[in-house]
Amino acid sequence: MAEFLPYGRQTIEDDDVAAVAEALRADYLTTGPRVEAFEQAFAEAVGARHAVACSSGTAALHLAMLALDLKAEEAVIAPAITFAATANCARYQGAEVVFADVDPDTGLMTPPTFEAALGRLGDRLLAAVLPVHLAGASVDLPGIKGLAGGAPLVEDACHALGTTMSFGNMPEQVGDGRHGAMACFSFHPVKTITTAEGGMVTTNDERLAERLRLFRSHGIVRDPGQFRDPPAAPEPWLYEMQALGYNYRLPDLLCALGISQLAKLPRFATRRRALAIRYWSLLARLSPVVRAVAPPPGCDPALHLFIVLIDFVAAGLTRAEVMAGLASRGIGSQVHYIPVHRQPYYRDRYGDLDLPGADAYYARCLSLPLYPGMADSDPDRVVEALAEVLGLD
Ligand SMILES: *Cc1c(COP(=O)(O)O)cnc(C)c1O
Repeated sequence: MAEFLPYGRQTIEDDDVAAVAEALRADYLTTGPRVEAFEQAFAEAVGARHAVACSSGTAALHLAMLALDLKAEEAVIAPAITFAATANCARYQGAEVVFADVDPDTGLMTPPTFEAALGRLGDRLLAAVLPVHLAGASVDLPGIKGLAGGAPLVEDACHALGTTMSFGNMPEQVGDGRHGAMACFSFHPVKTITTAEGGMVTTNDERLAERLRLFRSHGIVRDPGQFRDPPAAPEPWLYEMQALGYNYRLPDLLCALGISQLAKLPRFATRRRALAIRYWSLLARLSPVVRAVAPPPGCDPALHLFIVLIDFVAAGLTRAEVMAGLASRGIGSQVHYIPVHRQPYYRDRYGDLDLPGADAYYARCLSLPLYPGMADSDPDRVVEALAEVLGLD
């Protein structure tokens, strides 16, 4: 049988391995020169002034909440269709999450669904909005910002490294900070580039960048110029813990992989786009039972996931049956995402919310294989198998 195609996978090449091996033999495995080098290259790649590396996308989101000084009596708004970490980062601070519904056909939070969520805030202060660029497709940031009453946007851009978007003006890069206060990225192996585990926060705000760095490393300051209680005579061993921080550092070793991977981003993104274009043209014949999610106007996504919407009712099959049929033909698939408010933890906290857009999206979504290492002919193989399983031949 042909090789199994997972829904996503990393692309690691010989020079990536060599870069890590070199870093392993260097003096500093954790805090070394590659951390800043990766941050600078990343900031440049997305067009942001500052980039702060950290240990995961989840850590990136939590650091962003810490940088904003999110408090327990405050609230954030996040879409119901996302990975749990988007909402959890607010809960780490004791703040509440108001889940916004999504467009049933794109899975994205929109200005109207955001506005409806604002109506459910109650008397809590809205301290941040967490738009998610699902699968790499960009959210209408100006539209949401215009309604947010000054609350900062923290973009969950974990899917969207390499996406360009345009809101009627010049094309802009996800993470360049033109609309959001901060953007958070993940380098988990299924994301567009990987450091195994890893994350990054970008911002144009110097003060936020400083706070991100403070909370990344125990809240400890080593620069005597920034001490609250500077000693009368120099005490070179001194450091000050000025806030309750964490160990969210990304090791030098993994930054070596990040630098090497980042240099490949244009090639990876081009490859993802080419595979997606092949999928789109092949999937036309499975319409209307199967529909590919189209990117929003003005968005040129570096697709992280290739999500299709399947009318399982019309097909007369359950999603589990379709996934099993694909798997038996060597094709992996996955569901992105179970609505977060349906998870027992959040259901216990907020009850059964009625978010029909999220339910309608969840009922139909299925992620098909998409990663740079796929062969040119793999989308054909996947769509052929899907047609067979659905009886659409
Ligand atoms: C992957 C992901 C995260 C978390 O990233 P980790 O690096 O796995 O911690 C957060 N949000 C979204 C949308 C993601 O896809």
